[in-house]
Amino acid sequence: MRTLLLPSTEKRKQFELRALALRDFAGVTRDQPLDPFALATFARLLVVDFEAIEGLSEATRAHLLGEASDEWSGGACSRPLPDGWRLVILNPAHGTQRNRATLMEEISHVFLGHAANRLAPVTSPTADGNPRILTRDYNHDDEEAA
Ligand SMILES: [Zn+2]
Repeated sequence: MRTLLLPSTEKRKQFELRALALRDFAGVTRDQPLDPFALATFARLLVVDFEAIEGLSEATRAHLLGEASDEWSGGACSRPLPDGWRLVILNPAHGTQRNRATLMEEISHVFLGHAANRLAPVTSPTADGNPRILTRDYNHDDEEAA
């Protein structure tokens, strides 16, 4: 029999059990790496390359990848596509590891059935007229669980 080592607090224990359920669903053992890019499909999240986004001016693009790069990590569009999929955009300036963590968080929100509740700005407005990026936010408990 295999002993399950779980965190000591009740809350952490619940989080760990849900994480194990997610691994189970993905067919991945506790020792294998969980690939968020493979899992995204099951969560019906479509990861879109930042470079593929149309309608961004060169100035906005430069702003998002430059001075505002620390202010956003990525996120899912709150409004689903007609086929039910949702777009996810990851900040290409953050590197693979952080992109994977950001995507895993978005997947967790889907699997845990969290509903986005309010529109929150991820970047501040700028003096040179660059738009703010708005994204749906989750409540504090849901963020912690994800
Ligand atoms: Zn989140």
